[in-house]
Amino acid sequence: MVHKCKGKYHIIVFGCQMSEHDSEVIAGQLEEMGYLHTAEQSEADIILLVTCCVRETAENKVWGLLGRLRKLKQNKPDLVIGVSGCLPQQKDMGKNIKQRFPHVDLIFGTHNIHELPRLINQLKESQETVLEIWSQADTVKEGVPVRRAPGIKAWVTIMYGCNNFCTYCIVPYVRGRERSRKPEDIILEIEELVQQGYKDITLLGQNVNSYGKDFTKPFDFADLLLRLNQIEGLERLRYTTSHPRDFTDKLIDVVAQCDRVCENFHLPVQAGSNRILKKMNRGYSREEYLELINKIRDRVPKASITTDIMVGFPGETDEDFEDTMDIVRQVKYDSAFTFVYNIRKGTPAAKMPDQVPENIKTERIQKLIALQNEISLANNQALVGEIEEVLVEGPTKNNDNKIGGRSRTNKLVIFTGGNNLTGKIVPVKIKAGHLTHLEGDYYDGR
Ligand code: SAH
Ligand code: SF4
Repeated sequence: MVHKCKGKYHIIVFGCQMSEHDSEVIAGQLEEMGYLHTAEQSEADIILLVTCCVRETAENKVWGLLGRLRKLKQNKPDLVIGVSGCLPQQKDMGKNIKQRFPHVDLIFGTHNIHELPRLINQLKESQETVLEIWSQADTVKEGVPVRRAPGIKAWVTIMYGCNNFCTYCIVPYVRGRERSRKPEDIILEIEELVQQGYKDITLLGQNVNSYGKDFTKPFDFADLLLRLNQIEGLERLRYTTSHPRDFTDKLIDVVAQCDRVCENFHLPVQAGSNRILKKMNRGYSREEYLELINKIRDRVPKASITTDIMVGFPGETDEDFEDTMDIVRQVKYDSAFTFVYNIRKGTPAAKMPDQVPENIKTERIQKLIALQNEISLANNQALVGEIEEVLVEGPTKNNDNKIGGRSRTNKLVIFTGGNNLTGKIVPVKIKAGHLTHLEGDYYDGR
């Protein structure tokens, strides 16, 4: 039931799709309480930050914004400012935020998002900063309202947390251990989304191919895809992120055989050197990774393959870095998220010797980006003449009679057409490949 309007809320998100989706859950609860969304910070009665701490840059952005919000609060003392997400979930960070930014009213973490209405009520009653962070999640909570952006794409969480403990990564410390949602809850949510008109669903988890490892009755990620593939009216099914170590032959076969599951494999490699992969605790060697890529290309020849790569992990030598460049040349990724390693307090890599100097990290990342850009462009150019099925998302921002959407391989495709095609799947013949997108014409079969 929606109550009388209590005021307006504004949410600012940092970080990955998981944070984006958390913001949808936060928005859903605020709307249920009677708050309305505003795109204007200055109009808001509640401003909530959904934060990220996976890299230092993400963290610094939050500090900068909190500093700027102090002014706004001075002019509008009733404004509620809240900080949630991964950042406060770090050890002692909640207290730290409370001390450094006394104008913050509400601090909570990743495990108690569903408690937001109670926390807001508590704040209204006590008028004192509410700081509540759970060190771990209780059970998986179902039935929490979600406010999704209207459109054709939606995210659905299938599991929470991560058990992998890659030595550089803070995620397992702030998102807790792996917890899978029950298949029936996921199926129901997606069926409802399809009825509402969503067509392209991305399943979310830190390591989706660990799905179901916590069930007593065997039901794994491949089984889930097989089941979801039967949902009538669902056009496309995607998932992120999958861990190369857990990508089984069964899963490759299921992706190959399920018509709704898209041919895009996001397989973070992180590094190309066996020595570094071992120090990262990734659980695969470069040879095993390359074998996996070969198997995927064999079974799904049109697959696009994307990745996350990091440079400057502690102890990374010129030779190790060359191994990374080499694996990038061999795999020929369609695109890559590239990162400079940075220290995350509390992770094992933070204490490793031989941290790489910043100037060398910068040099390496520039070389890596230049190489990847060359490959991305060449891959896109090689698609000239191909027909891509494009699920149209709407007009481009340039106001040039062009519309855009995604291919099954998740490439952005721009072509001439009217807004009436939004939400439809349209064949497009590619006439040019650019670094970040493809350009084409509606294909009428001739
Ligand atoms: N669960 C996903 C994504 C985790 S975070 C996975 O395993 O792939 C997203 C990316 O951030 C990682 O893939 C990694 O490349 C990068 N990352 C994580 N910790 C980092 C750190 N300390 N420094 C730099 N990049 C990091
Ligand atoms: Fe972090 Fe590794 Fe888990 Fe990904 S798999 S979230 S990189 S610990």
